Amino acid sequence: MIVAMQADATEEQINHICDRIREFGYAPHVIRGTERTVIAAVGPGDKKEHIEQLKSADGVENAFPILQPFKLVSKEVKKQKSAIRVDEITIGDGGFVVMAGPCSVEGYEQLMTTAKAVAASGAQILRGGAYKPRTSPYDFQGLAEEGLKLLAEARRQTGLKVITEVLDTEGVELVAEYADILQVGARNMQNFALLKKLGEVQKPIMLKRGLSATIKEFLLSAEYIVTHGNPNVMLCERGIRTFETATRNTLDLAAVPLLNELTHLPVIIDPSHATGKRSLVRPLAKAAVAVGADGLMTEVHPFPELAWSDGPQSLRPEEFARMMHELQPYINLRQNEMN
Ligand code: PEP
Ligand code: MN
Repeated sequence: MIVAMQADATEEQINHICDRIREFGYAPHVIRGTERTVIAAVGPGDKKEHIEQLKSADGVENAFPILQPFKLVSKEVKKQKSAIRVDEITIGDGGFVVMAGPCSVEGYEQLMTTAKAVAASGAQILRGGAYKPRTSPYDFQGLAEEGLKLLAEARRQTGLKVITEVLDTEGVELVAEYADILQVGARNMQNFALLKKLGEVQKPIMLKRGLSATIKEFLLSAEYIVTHGNPNVMLCERGIRTFETATRNTLDLAAVPLLNELTHLPVIIDPSHATGKRSLVRPLAKAAVAVGADGLMTEVHPFPELAWSDGPQSLRPEEFARMMHELQPYINLRQNEMN
């Protein structure tokens, strides 16, 4: 349930409500807005008598049930979009953040060339997999810690922030040491042990939508991370499985405005994995801006034909530069509409 405190509610009153919520068997999460404080009480069921008792407590304006199955990530709990800080970069503040880089970190030259190129074109975050979730066990599995070290070196040389995938619970600590944002891949969206562990991490998480996950399942997975203590979660729509085989997946563009209706978490679009086709990345990047995404993740490789993974969907640096150039008017238009 949600307990909306009066604008002039005291700290004592807020603490008292939190105690009552605990007595009733829920966990209180205090959300401080600019005008008032809201306390979300999450747990099994929202009992009517509990709501009635809280309604009549001092300092409480109103109390009502949360109707959605996901709670803390729901718009019902927090209307304003959550802005996620990564040092000087903010994701979810109305701007448009671009993450770019190779599918896999392959080596020093490949990564530094790519990092410098995407930074020069205006990307703010470098992507690159050091642990790769490959469909076949015989495919390249990633450089592991060596890859993480290269990402850290690329950050040092370019000033880009780093996002990279964490595959399992055992890897969380090590990946969190090197990365600025931890990525949960589509294949791990419902790895609940991993999600719970990421709740304890102090760094932002980007959760990719599962291959066949519904929006409800997607948001419930995000809820796992948030309810275990980490509110800094962004979502990534990366295409879902449909009957269509002409593209690798089907980009669910409608998911973006829908997610913006349902949740306050920022939403990123990955047109590279969504389509599997380089030529489709640029038009869909424009769609990402138009449809209200908070950012973009795209794969870039200096020589896609030589890439160890996902070459056909990787942009060449000059193609990435063109995409960034063409995106700017769309970003400006959106900015003007907001002002
Ligand atoms: C990736 O971004 O490196 C990746 C493997 O994507 P996904 O989990 O969306 O397939
Ligand atoms: Mn890839």
